[in-house]
Amino acid sequence: MSQISNLKELFSSMVFNERVMKERLPKETYKSLKKTISEGSFLDLETANVIANVMKDWALEKGATHFTHWFQPMTGITAEKHDSFISPVGDGSVIMEFSGKELIKGEPDASSFPSGGLRATFEARGYTAWDPTSYAFLKENTLFIPTAFCSYGGEALDKKTPLLRSMEALNNQALRILKLFGTPAKRIYATIGSEQEYFLISEEHYKQRKDLILTGRTLFGAKPPKGQELEDHYFGTLKQNVLEYMHDLDRELWKLGISAKTEHNEVAPSQHELAPVFSTANIAVDQNQLTMDMMRKVAKKHKLVCLLHEKPFAGINGSGKHNNWSISTDSGENLLDPGKNPENNTRFLLFLAAIIKAVNEYQDLLRVSAASAANDHRLGANEAPPAIISVYLGSELTNVLESIESSNGYASKEEEKMKSNVSYIPEFIKDTTDRNRTSPFAFTGNKFEFRMLGSSQSISGPNFVLNTIVAEELRQFADVLEGKDDIVKASLEIIKDTVKNNKQIIFNGNNYSDEWTKEAKKRGLLNLKNTVEAVPYFIKKKNIDLFINHGILTEKEVLSRHEILLEGYWKVINIEALTVVDIAKKAIIPAVYSYLSDITESTLRRQKLSIDVSNDITVISKLSALKDTLQAAVAKLDKALAKAKDIENIEEKAHFYSATVIDAMSAVRNVADELETQVATSYWPFPTYSEILFPV
Ligand code: ADP
Ligand code: MG
Repeated sequence: MSQISNLKELFSSMVFNERVMKERLPKETYKSLKKTISEGSFLDLETANVIANVMKDWALEKGATHFTHWFQPMTGITAEKHDSFISPVGDGSVIMEFSGKELIKGEPDASSFPSGGLRATFEARGYTAWDPTSYAFLKENTLFIPTAFCSYGGEALDKKTPLLRSMEALNNQALRILKLFGTPAKRIYATIGSEQEYFLISEEHYKQRKDLILTGRTLFGAKPPKGQELEDHYFGTLKQNVLEYMHDLDRELWKLGISAKTEHNEVAPSQHELAPVFSTANIAVDQNQLTMDMMRKVAKKHKLVCLLHEKPFAGINGSGKHNNWSISTDSGENLLDPGKNPENNTRFLLFLAAIIKAVNEYQDLLRVSAASAANDHRLGANEAPPAIISVYLGSELTNVLESIESSNGYASKEEEKMKSNVSYIPEFIKDTTDRNRTSPFAFTGNKFEFRMLGSSQSISGPNFVLNTIVAEELRQFADVLEGKDDIVKASLEIIKDTVKNNKQIIFNGNNYSDEWTKEAKKRGLLNLKNTVEAVPYFIKKKNIDLFINHGILTEKEVLSRHEILLEGYWKVINIEALTVVDIAKKAIIPAVYSYLSDITESTLRRQKLSIDVSNDITVISKLSALKDTLQAAVAKLDKALAKAKDIENIEEKAHFYSATVIDAMSAVRNVADELETQVATSYWPFPTYSEILFPV
């Protein structure tokens, strides 16, 4: 009992949330802050002063000494700049101060964050601006204030700003539709629950792998004798140290108001997943960043390392992030809940049609939103959805839409009971559709699950794209519907048209099959295999227009993000390639030399005793030849890197890395991995896949 009440107390104990605000803020202040949060109204400096003061007192009581504006630059991770509350007064003593101005505005130097040419280094000024819709929280004796980050000229330099703008756009357009249907709603929100995959490995192993330390993934490693073929890890019993880690992590997350709920083993050995209960989009994005941060920190305490990279181990499943997305009204009504009879739920079908049309017309943007050098290892590699975007609806909804399209009536399915044929196991009603785990964008009962996201990426990008493209379709629908007398009839016409023109995006089969790739091509769907193929679509005119029309990004901001994407891409591969060269030259080749030298020595000694050493000579020659091949491959990679350096044009550069440099890296790895299987374990310079993935 006491533990339960402790947990209740623990939850959100480090968050300056609704409850704390209500308790501590003067009534008027609370009211105007609440209005700002729920309706987006302006908040004046006087009110901010009061809030800052109350926030500071709350933080000091909990032991805080510092505060920081917390922001999300285009690096994809978060940034912070700590200031103490201390303010000296004339007599040599100090007081603790925190003003409204400090709460609402910060001025970090912006010159060292990616800006994609938006800002020359001499224009260093950048601003962080308080986002009152995401709660401030306490971590490591510091008050964290969620903020948006922009340049002196007002251009967004972060991941939060476009997300907030997209929520606004979605709100505006969805409310137009809801009004037509007579749904009472003041505001609508995108809701998100993101399932986070990760690997846990021992710190001891990690420390010995320069590739993991520098790049987050292993750049070498032969296939272990055992992989994931027995499928014995998925949902398997949790190991004691993993269990302790998960429980510890849950507690830390709960303190921060993050409702971590589900934890289980994933398909690959040493791979796990954490899912929180969903929340509104901006909070979900902030909380996912915090979750990733906490996952790493808590692991350290347990002498483990949490790997969030999309593909830490070749040949073993990588990690993604399932982005569950829906739309909800301020009273919590889920607009993607079909209800018992979807065929009669016109409002739901209209929203569904908007999403189908959005995904079809903006496949390219969704694809770009999940593109990165790291995620290129997963998408289309038979462990994650393919790079082709399609929508899974399940048979029931597909039938409903088809019957509208063909104007035939729809006969709804009877509820089916699940029977186990064991008398004492209770019966329950089956879901109307089975699950499909292969679709990149699947309807899962009352939400869509976008499954292309990489495990390490900020979920902001995919969600601001989703919000915006759906806002655009709702706008088009509202333009037609407003002024019509019979909204249901007019909606059905729109739905019919939409299905007719967009049904090529609907696919309920196996997305991993080769047939689907062929079929998708026939349907004219895009198949953008990697980042360099996908990124150019970001700056297509239709996409720039979309962002401008909904006030999400200006043309300048789109172009800057395009540049940041390409730059991020080649820089990641460059670091990986340099690390490959470094490890090969300084660790692997020396290890091979030393092994070769020892066996050669012993062979020569035995030869002196007239023992037959022909077999040994074969082994030595083979190893020698492999070593030569490795050295040649390293030289080739070195050369490719030198060439890459001279390429000025950023698109050309990214292409060169995606083809030539990646190929040269693979060539080095292939020989090195072959050598790993030939050289005695005691000589090998770092832990192998078996040791890392199957710790004793
Ligand atoms: P699974 O995908 O394994 O079936 P769940 O059904 O438990 O997992 O849900 C996965 C995630 O979807 C959770 O984070 C959950 O909170 C989230 N989710 C559920 N309903 C919604 C919703 N209406 N909007 C956004 N996310 C949701
Ligand atoms: Mg899921």
